[in-house]
Amino acid sequence: MTEPRFSSPSEELVYRAEGLNRVYRSGSRQVRALADASLTLRRGQRLGIVGESGSGKSTLIRILAGLDRPTSGQVWFEDREISRLRERDLGFLRASVQMVFQDPRSSLNPRMRVSQIITEPLRSSLVRRQLPAGVDHRARLAEVMADVDLPLEAAERFPHEFSGGQRQRIAIARALAPKPDVLIADEPVSALDVSVRAQVMNLLNDLVAGHGLTLIVVSHDLMVVRHLCDTLLVMQHGRIVEHGSAEQVYANPQTDYTKALLAAIPRIRAW
Ligand code: ADP
Ligand code: MG
Repeated sequence: MTEPRFSSPSEELVYRAEGLNRVYRSGSRQVRALADASLTLRRGQRLGIVGESGSGKSTLIRILAGLDRPTSGQVWFEDREISRLRERDLGFLRASVQMVFQDPRSSLNPRMRVSQIITEPLRSSLVRRQLPAGVDHRARLAEVMADVDLPLEAAERFPHEFSGGQRQRIAIARALAPKPDVLIADEPVSALDVSVRAQVMNLLNDLVAGHGLTLIVVSHDLMVVRHLCDTLLVMQHGRIVEHGSAEQVYANPQTDYTKALLAAIPRIRAW
């Protein structure tokens, strides 16, 4: 793998979240998926979120992306509080924040050609109003295909005609299409063959650096976060139990839980 090239994040806040709680109710059962979570994220920062399955990672990023609402607490994106906004008022967020999910087999519509999949975010009425008038979809398609190293001919094919790694490239191209400021990736390489994980991580690294993106990566695999992120947030049972610069957390973990997570990764322990 190539060494990550981190640029210094600016002082400008992209996200501020305060006291987020998310309680899921199913029948009489209640699950507290997120408990009093607060964070800030600056422009250009690369935040890695780790923690065991069920610790609340996806719940947290879904709330940041405006795909879910906190039961209580507040989230500011740039200068707007987003947690109570109606869907129709979330256009600015849909254009600025894009997501890449774990499994491109389920996140890409199998009946759509790659060209349609990638330009779909540009055609969404919510997003369209946020983009400069007259964005040329074909030109943007060609740009993002080149960004992810796929030949333009691939645009006329369907997702099943591609390998897992290529499908994730398509998902990344789709996310880049509206020129987002923030990329949120939920387990972006976990569903991929081990042999292509490094390629996709390198690609993400290059794209984040090249386009000056702010990155949030969720992974149960600390190596992924080690490779992509400058800041680390550790979750356990819906709580943020650790949050700091990656180097700081690796060098001096504050909780036994983080120590155990780190100890499970021989390459980090050796550092
Ligand atoms: P992670 O991404 O860290 O694996 P999640 O945020 O997906 O964790 O889930 C946190 C907790 O919330 C888990 O106990 C999970 O079962 C529960 N949960 C997540 N989504 C829902 C939902 N839509 N309905 C009910 N419970 C949910
Ligand atoms: Mg998850």
